[in-house]
Amino acid sequence: MKIMAQVGMVMALDKCIGCHTCSVTCKQVWTNRPGAEYIWFNDVETKPGIGYPKRWEDQVNNKGGWKLNKNQKLKLASGGRFSKLLRIFSNPNLPIIDDYYEPWTYDYETLTTAPVSKNGPVATAHSALTGKELDLQWGPNWEDDLAGAPTRALNDPNMAGLEEKVKMSYEQAFMFYLPRICEHCMNPSCVASCPSGAMYKREEDGIVLVDQQQCRGWRFCVSGCPYKKVYFNHKTSKAEKCTFCYPRVEGGQPTICSETCVGRIRFLGIVLYDVDKINEAASTKDPTKLLDAQLDLFCDPFDPKVIKQAEADNIPQDWIQAAQKSPVYALAKRYRVALPLHPEFRTLPMVWYVPPLSPVLEVIEPEKDGSTDPDNVFHAIDKLRIPIHYLANLLSAGDDEVIKNVLKRLGALRSFERKRQLSGTIDDSLGAQVGLGSADLDDLYQLLAIAPYDRRYVLPIAHRERGDELLLSQGTCGIDFESISVSKDNPQKLESVPIEFRRRK
Ligand code: SF4
Ligand code: SF4
Repeated sequence: MKIMAQVGMVMALDKCIGCHTCSVTCKQVWTNRPGAEYIWFNDVETKPGIGYPKRWEDQVNNKGGWKLNKNQKLKLASGGRFSKLLRIFSNPNLPIIDDYYEPWTYDYETLTTAPVSKNGPVATAHSALTGKELDLQWGPNWEDDLAGAPTRALNDPNMAGLEEKVKMSYEQAFMFYLPRICEHCMNPSCVASCPSGAMYKREEDGIVLVDQQQCRGWRFCVSGCPYKKVYFNHKTSKAEKCTFCYPRVEGGQPTICSETCVGRIRFLGIVLYDVDKINEAASTKDPTKLLDAQLDLFCDPFDPKVIKQAEADNIPQDWIQAAQKSPVYALAKRYRVALPLHPEFRTLPMVWYVPPLSPVLEVIEPEKDGSTDPDNVFHAIDKLRIPIHYLANLLSAGDDEVIKNVLKRLGALRSFERKRQLSGTIDDSLGAQVGLGSADLDDLYQLLAIAPYDRRYVLPIAHRERGDELLLSQGTCGIDFESISVSKDNPQKLESVPIEFRRRK
């Protein structure tokens, strides 16, 4: 057993109001520069929808992430070394610019310099790539609030098996927002896909970064990432991606998207995990069991054995304490209300989501006397406006029961609090029905509904002074699948190398 620390994020989808503040502040800080016009490290998609880039979730065509070969061994879905060698100058699995969108700006000068005339001047859109006038047909947020849903939403890969059930007419539509950043995966296929060894996972906190000096622009990371969260900067010819705002995180501050989140939907914290078991967990045969396999990697930060091992593995004391207070650990493992996005991609993602409990009051059956019992939430779970199976396709590899269990816990929490606040009654039976005590429900309420800043963001400060110690003790990681790399001696040749964690520069 070797314990390492990994930062993670949880987003509570019920609280996202789709304001895009997170996207805009992230863009201002990280990608407001030439070559990155089309790049949104953080984007907020309306679901159902095909997203940004178009149909990023379709791994049949995109071939991102991992799959098991016939010997049940983990392999990159895009193929091994030989097939990469054949495609090194022509990669068919890359999204094209139209899948993202052709970035544009407006001809503002026309507005400010137009002479007085009968009709007002119009600022036309111009491509930020070619300067030519653009007939806008698609953008990063084209599907906002279900725009175009009747024609496009049925192409959403998560609609598989629901096409007949869900009619995209206005009255029957459902929607919610899905903010997305890089998942800073525990088993990152982008790192394993990079032929130059430029992508790496930091050993002290698991943040996945691109070394701009080492990147040779092969773009296998772009196709290898199933979440399509690595981008190619066409001005620098280098790959770029979300940095989890590492300069802020090192100082104990939240990422910009979290700091500025209007809905306060984001939670940040670290988890301690057993790095020696990554490969085994990601190789779990049944995709619906990947969630449990990933949760089994997370170590209980209160367990004396775990603490002893963490100390032996050079995890600083304040990091162990931060893991004990981590809202990510609490929501994902202790209360099991947060779920990973598309666990079936086998990258063991570390941005988790509390699924939305769509409005329940309207689906609760009227009682015989015509009144409704708002606490009767368990019966309502199957009739919610957002189909359970849609959420299951998104967050539990298609397993409806996982989603139902989470929604029941959220429903119990809602009823418990409602009763307590309206009548002062503590109803222990509600928690008992979902395997939680009343103290747990209260803690969950404090965390999900009204948590102050320092409970939502629990990030220990980086120990720069311990860098050498960390490197000596932790060295390369326990991830033992192969990556590929261009041979230093012969640039025409690809050779296999183990994936490495690296120390912060
Ligand atoms: S989500 Fe991030 S860490 Fe995971 S594979 Fe994609 S780029 Fe890599
Ligand atoms: S800032 Fe927060 S509430 Fe607004 S869109 Fe982003 S995640 Fe949602």
